[in-house]
Amino acid sequence: MKRVIILGATGSIGTQTLDVIKNFRDNFKVVGLTAYNNVDLLAQQIEEFNPEVVAVKDENKAYKLKAKINKNIEILTGQKGLQNIVEYEADLVVVAVEGIAGLLPTVKAIERGKDIALANKEVLVTAGKIVMDLAKKKKINFLPVDSEHSAILQCLRGNDKKEISRLILTASGGPFRGMKYEDLKKVTVEQTLRHPNWKMGKKITVDSATLMNKGFEVIEAKWLFDISEDKIDVIVHPQSIIHSMVEYIDGSVIAQLATADMRIPIQYALNYPTRNYINGINFLDFSITTQLTFEKPDLETFRCLSLAYEALKIGGTMTTVLNAADEIAVSLFLNKKIEFLQIAEIIEESMKEHNNIQNPTLDDIINVDKEVKEKIAKKYMR
Ligand code: NDP
Ligand code: MG
Repeated sequence: MKRVIILGATGSIGTQTLDVIKNFRDNFKVVGLTAYNNVDLLAQQIEEFNPEVVAVKDENKAYKLKAKINKNIEILTGQKGLQNIVEYEADLVVVAVEGIAGLLPTVKAIERGKDIALANKEVLVTAGKIVMDLAKKKKINFLPVDSEHSAILQCLRGNDKKEISRLILTASGGPFRGMKYEDLKKVTVEQTLRHPNWKMGKKITVDSATLMNKGFEVIEAKWLFDISEDKIDVIVHPQSIIHSMVEYIDGSVIAQLATADMRIPIQYALNYPTRNYINGINFLDFSITTQLTFEKPDLETFRCLSLAYEALKIGGTMTTVLNAADEIAVSLFLNKKIEFLQIAEIIEESMKEHNNIQNPTLDDIINVDKEVKEKIAKKYMR
């Protein structure tokens, strides 16, 4: 029986993870769950999965949660709660919280020798080197949940890493694929949130529309698979059926295909290295799926992807700046304080102003994240 803690249980990935676990009740014991604001849903999850411990945003939320449940379980609070919950006895921690809040709990879980199933982007985008060095030292399994990295992990199985010539990440292109700079001037929040293929949290949906999400995935791929950025390509594949590919030195390409359903990569991370059947998953039907098309990403219109490559080349805290600036810019956009195209402008401006720290500590990363966010907020949130 694998003992599992889920950070961010009430989110899109968190709820789908619990949905997958329902299929394998005999294989998994849910030890801990965390929510931030959504104590109603957490209360239901407590009833259903019977965890030993949970964590919520603050004392006020803890008070509200207590009133909703009949069980006497441990309730932790705040950022400390999110870090302390990973101290509980468990084999695997699923990191599905949004934002930099995921970083320290992940580091702590690795230090305690726990395997990680990672959905959160910030962990590797901001601290990829520190986190992967630690994961190697502790000899834990560090498993990606994101569909692209799960695909690459599957395409690498049974092959020698020395024989890789390129990783090819696929991108759907988002709702604005094919549009030009001028067309993007007036796009609304509502249009941006209409992703053609995936249903996800708001932040990542906006990042998919700007292609920043793919930029983050390039950065994550570098650290996860220990490969230089000039060997990581992005190709737009609007059908989202090929989830990524690996090209080998003999010219062979291995791809992973599946329907666009996050429960498939979640299942793979939970059951790794085995596979298992999940109820309700649609299988690909090649008599319906008759077309797989590909096109180059438009790096001039969707500048966020270029900025991500640039930040990765510079290294150090520059990717933290990329991430922090994007987070605030996206939230300003969602709150209708800035236009869609200003997201990239704000990120570029923040990168230009930054004095890079080449070999940062975790403290440096947390501080840079905070400084960049405060600076942008001060300027635009008047
Ligand atoms: P959601 O916004 O749906 O869920 C976020 C979760 O994190 C919720 O449980 C939320 O709690 C909690 N949370 C939010 N802020 C904080 C905080 N400051 N401290 C602690 N917990 C917090 O996001 P997704 O599930 O879509 O995404 C989660 C992560 O996975 C993101 O980093 C995303 O980029 C990544 N990802 C998501 C994919 C997807 O298909 N959705 C695919 C690949 C990666 P509450 O709701 O209770 O307030
Ligand atoms: Mg993805």
